[in-house]
Amino acid sequence: MLAGALAGATAWAAPAGARHSNLRHERPLTELERTDAERLLVVVTKEVPLDPVDYAPSDLVPWRDTAYELRAEVNDQLEELFSAAEAEGLGLRVISGYRSYETQAGTYDYWVRNYGQASADATSARPGHSEHQTGLAVDLDDLTGGCYLDACFGELPEGRWVARHAHRFGFVLSYPQGLRDRTGYTYEPWHLRYVGPHAARAMRELGVPLLQDYRSPRVAAAGLGSLLGRRD
Ligand SMILES: [Zn+2]
Repeated sequence: MLAGALAGATAWAAPAGARHSNLRHERPLTELERTDAERLLVVVTKEVPLDPVDYAPSDLVPWRDTAYELRAEVNDQLEELFSAAEAEGLGLRVISGYRSYETQAGTYDYWVRNYGQASADATSARPGHSEHQTGLAVDLDDLTGGCYLDACFGELPEGRWVARHAHRFGFVLSYPQGLRDRTGYTYEPWHLRYVGPHAARAMRELGVPLLQDYRSPRVAAAGLGSLLGRRD
């Protein structure tokens, strides 16, 4: 499985300037899509940790004038997303970005101590198992804080807009409604994962909401994963 996924990403990333003629929306590959595809599309779940488990990205930058950090391209793309939302009168703010292995260990311990292991595992990732450790994940809120880390964010105009438009900027919802059996997480309309505009758009067009499914050899073999394993 890992070898198949790895080969797919390598084949996609390798040919500089390669054309994906089956994609309806041609646009140049981003820097991360060209140079760091394996990290960009890495699958991190409760079962699959980062490798190495204490991985930290080397290109973190601060989000605006906050203490939150994101990988540089994620930061740029999120600026685009915020601008587009603001143009429609929707105000967003970042409430979490990159979290180190050590920070995640502290967060997870906090949940275990206060709410017990089962609750912690439904809510917080174990260290090495958080998408936030990739520097590619960000949690959003509207400006009122009324639905802070709450499913009701998905019902706000801001949350609905994010769900509808995030893919244009390369983001997907990692923990959609109704897929807890697959993801291990309850619905998190505030948690976005950057996968790059190509993969995000392809996942949406194919109706494949989860990155692990998009990266599966079955999807690639069926010719659905247009960014994976094509050598044309
Ligand atoms: Zn999150």
